[in-house]
Amino acid sequence: MQLDETHDVSLRSWVDSANLPDSDFPIQNLPFGVFRRAGSVEPFRIGVAIGDQILDLAAVLKAGALGKGAVGPMRQALSASVLNDLMAAGPGLWSELRLLLSRALRLGSPQQSSWEGCLVAQSHAQFALPARIGDYTDFYTSIHHATAIGRMFRPDNPLLPNYKWMPIGYHGRSSSIGVSGQGFRRPVGQFAPSGALPPSIAPSSRLDYELELGVFIGAGNELGSPIPIDEADSHVFGLCLLNDWSARDLQGWEYQPLGPFLSKNFATTISPWIVTLEALKPYRVPWTRPSDDPAPLPYLDSPQMRSHGGLDILLEVWLSTEALRRLGAPALRLSRSNARYAYWNMAQMVAHHTINGCNLQPGDLLGSGTQSGPEEKEAGSLLELSKGGKTPIRLPNGEIRSFLEDGDTVIMRAWCERAGVARVGFGELVGSVAPALER
Ligand code: MN
Repeated sequence: MQLDETHDVSLRSWVDSANLPDSDFPIQNLPFGVFRRAGSVEPFRIGVAIGDQILDLAAVLKAGALGKGAVGPMRQALSASVLNDLMAAGPGLWSELRLLLSRALRLGSPQQSSWEGCLVAQSHAQFALPARIGDYTDFYTSIHHATAIGRMFRPDNPLLPNYKWMPIGYHGRSSSIGVSGQGFRRPVGQFAPSGALPPSIAPSSRLDYELELGVFIGAGNELGSPIPIDEADSHVFGLCLLNDWSARDLQGWEYQPLGPFLSKNFATTISPWIVTLEALKPYRVPWTRPSDDPAPLPYLDSPQMRSHGGLDILLEVWLSTEALRRLGAPALRLSRSNARYAYWNMAQMVAHHTINGCNLQPGDLLGSGTQSGPEEKEAGSLLELSKGGKTPIRLPNGEIRSFLEDGDTVIMRAWCERAGVARVGFGELVGSVAPALER
């Protein structure tokens, strides 16, 4: 992968907090989000994270401080209240903008004096969904997750025969996607433990999270025109964290024959920042699979995809309970995994999604599926960590968890790091469970 001056590990910013070694948002990252000052009625606008600050792009434009770059399509895309127009603009304009931002935010840049007034502290910001999400599709790309879950639902037949031939997915629902900070009521639904009839209708007692990456589509494709695998990455604007909240009891009863429905569509939470594929370039890794597994069909395979189709992204889930917070105790890490374990990668998801001619549109969101690793402790859901409730997790204050309780807050984090390369982080995704509505 061709790196450029924006990836240079020695770059420093005049925003001091961006230069701290553990910052998620150094000058080599520059992720996009949508925000306004918390407690204000200002319009939401596009911002770029830099250290613990947000560069307010609307303010930069207003000050006429974007310089020669602020012409035509870029000005229009950046003055919007969602990222869809920028996403639609495609990789040429994304690169131009990244270079412009990188140069202006560097130590010693002539823009410092005019841009300093365009910063808002992230701690004083309220975030909104970064895009108008037309369609949301959730995949199932971790074979470790698919096998562990399959074993619980179908002990005799955990991995169905299609799994190794195509990235399995289902169409989710975009209306209930919220940005980090989302709270939602425990869903009520129908379930039949061990198939006992008649089924119950009650609040879910097996509420779970799923640790996923979200893939935001940039430029779309025409209906009827599949995206070839080697062009797939140029249709991806960037990645975020995604929590696909799941009610396992509802899921177990409803999922056959048409897949998940009400067990998944009551809430999905994403992180506020979208990390661009350009920022992630240094962390591309080869895509491989065991030699005795089938090679992908040609439309899902290519030398380019094999050489850097994977992504080396560390992923973590943390839990904070009401009781822990009362004690002033910190959140507890439940697991750590890595996106490189995925059996199917981002380019394969895009190529497969469109092979039938299905059109993707700017701002569409693809979930990666739960990113569990090969080891049990790398599981990306409670269903796996507690083995379906058989081995509850013991918290330091004596509480136990098989599934989520009311008042629980789930925190997800992700970042990339390697010696000699700038760290690139995703920030945090936070979501909380409120009690079910009284019925
Ligand atoms: Mn999922």
